[in-house]
Amino acid sequence: MIALEAFNLRKTYRINNQIVEAVKNVSLNIASGQVMAFLGPNGAGKTTSIKMMAGLIKPDFGWTKISGINPHKNPSALEKLGAVLEGNRNVYWRLTPQENLEYFGVLKGLTHFQARKSGIALLERFGLQNKRRTAVQQLSRGMQQKLAFAVALVHQPQVLLLDEPTLGLDVEATEDVKILVREIAASGCAILLTTHQLDIAEQLADNIAIIQKGEIITELPTDELIRKFSGKAYKIQMESVLDEVRITELEKIGVEVEEKRIIYVSQPEFIYKVFDIIKPLELKIVEKAEADLTQIFLKLVKEGNRKQETEKFMINN
Ligand code: ATP
Repeated sequence: MIALEAFNLRKTYRINNQIVEAVKNVSLNIASGQVMAFLGPNGAGKTTSIKMMAGLIKPDFGWTKISGINPHKNPSALEKLGAVLEGNRNVYWRLTPQENLEYFGVLKGLTHFQARKSGIALLERFGLQNKRRTAVQQLSRGMQQKLAFAVALVHQPQVLLLDEPTLGLDVEATEDVKILVREIAASGCAILLTTHQLDIAEQLADNIAIIQKGEIITELPTDELIRKFSGKAYKIQMESVLDEVRITELEKIGVEVEEKRIIYVSQPEFIYKVFDIIKPLELKIVEKAEADLTQIFLKLVKEGNRKQETEKFMINN
């Protein structure tokens, strides 16, 4: 089931008689239980798109639906939405975790009793029950982030917006948040994740959408995107350094050898010839040399810039 839909969203700002096209044409769908990473360079239009999807700003054109309901026409749609904003902006620092959960639960349409019950269950789930009466400002950054998730989930939303959920967290807290995101998705919630930490996006997202200058330039399942840019090269790591005779043999068939122990086979049909040359030496790792999301992102954004500059040049000449 599609939980979050955006269709042809457009938003233009006017500053000092100058028109800024923040979002030009953004459409996307996220199914229940799926995580979509929404990535883009600074100023690409991510926040503006998310604010429109969350019903916070009205699009100039296009529409958005949360569980089938347009939040701009029917604000009850927001009862199906939770958000964890950067820097825990969705919790009150002077209140305790329990007070935050009850306050935001009621704000999202629960009765006080329901909010308290759901809040207690979430505090237990996130290991925060013994901190329920401590002011949020006295909690560690990792605990504050877990509370921000609990607050976003108190009314059992069907869509969750996550803005830089691991920014500034240490390694352990980052791992906790990653586990949490996977659990929340597995429970059926659709998640839209924005982050500049591309390794986190790669690990968590089922699908990736990249926005640049207000337009989505790529939208693909994560594994497909990585496969598309990875080519067919193999990387072989040897347990010990190769002798000169074997290195010469390998180089003769056009295979690259780095630091005498890493072999790059860019033509996959040569892989068994390579094995013949290196046998019976011990291998450490044999793997497909996969591109990572950072390399892919930089390549796509660079290509997008070139394309947009060419189009501008054609229009002006
Ligand atoms: P970042 O990664 O830096 O947070 P972003 O992808 O979230 O960037 P947006 O904040 O959506 O990008 O901004 C897109 C463009 O719209 C930018 O050029 C920004 O300056 C402009 N913009 C955003 N909000 C407003 C506003 N309220 N008034 C005028 N211009 C705005």
